[in-house]
Amino acid sequence: MSQDIDEIQRLFNIELQQIKSLQELKSLEVVYLGRRGKINLLLKKDLSGNQVDRKKLGNEINELKKNISIKLVDYRNKLIKAPDTSPFIDPTLPGISQKMGSLHIVSYAIEQISKIFASLGFIRMSYREIEYEYFSFDSLNMPKNHPGRDDFETFFLDGNTDKKYGKMILSPHTSSCQIREMWRTPPPIKMINIAKCYRPNWDVSHTPMFHQFESLCIDKRINMTNLKGTIEFFVKNFFGKNRQIRLRPHHFQFTEPSFEVDITCDICSGTGFKSTSEKCRVCKSGWLELAGAGMVHPKVLQEGKIDSKIFSGWAFAFGLERIMMMKEGIKLDDMRLLYSGDIKFLEQF
Ligand SMILES: [Zn+2]
Repeated sequence: MSQDIDEIQRLFNIELQQIKSLQELKSLEVVYLGRRGKINLLLKKDLSGNQVDRKKLGNEINELKKNISIKLVDYRNKLIKAPDTSPFIDPTLPGISQKMGSLHIVSYAIEQISKIFASLGFIRMSYREIEYEYFSFDSLNMPKNHPGRDDFETFFLDGNTDKKYGKMILSPHTSSCQIREMWRTPPPIKMINIAKCYRPNWDVSHTPMFHQFESLCIDKRINMTNLKGTIEFFVKNFFGKNRQIRLRPHHFQFTEPSFEVDITCDICSGTGFKSTSEKCRVCKSGWLELAGAGMVHPKVLQEGKIDSKIFSGWAFAFGLERIMMMKEGIKLDDMRLLYSGDIKFLEQF
């Protein structure tokens, strides 16, 4: 039995020297002095001897227990007083700031436009980016030989040609949504559709992917006055009161009468010149074409299964990037920058 006591003491001394934290020390204390610890096990084992031996061994075990307790307390004090070797933290230093993300300037414009039209009661709809020729051209009164249907102007997709709706294309304008909207719901219709469009062009004022937003309004007694008022409301809210607009007669297949909406160029303040000798790269004349608009052609209403003798409507389409470039305070003279992925450029907005 004495041998057991010596062995426990020896093992305890070795294990104690390996302890590095208060938590480890607590575990060691449980192993030796706990209810089912080594000392208590020894006491239970001891019950079988004669009375003299039992008393002697009991004293020895108590001595061992006392010794271990003292050593544990000493070691605990030693650990508490030990110098802290963890890295120095200065709580007075400024923290590492997290970089804040923000919306892309185009996404921001989409939000603004949606809000302006929502305030007039227009519902925002979403339609297909991959369309059939019928919805982009035929249903909009555009004949087979229309230049917009050339592959210099429209992306045609490899795929099945539908007997009724023709070839599949990347929607070249948001007007593709007009017939789908007329089929979706009978008048009154007050809709805007802000979407990606695709055309194979690449220069300072064109990118192959761009955005348009289309508005369609059909009801009884809808006329040009409603159209002009809606465009003016939008322009005043989006660009501010300093910018001038003009309406210019034009021809579109899907509206009659039709016109284009122009706005004064912000790069050259409507003069057409960037400096005394250099012409403005964007407008060349002081005016920028902003939108195409007009009263929905009766043939288009007919394709949309709407009686043109009862209902009339107007539609217009704005180029969203053009709007960005013409917005006050944004001196942007190359549209391609918007999709260059250049963080330094985008962080300015
Ligand atoms: Zn200009």
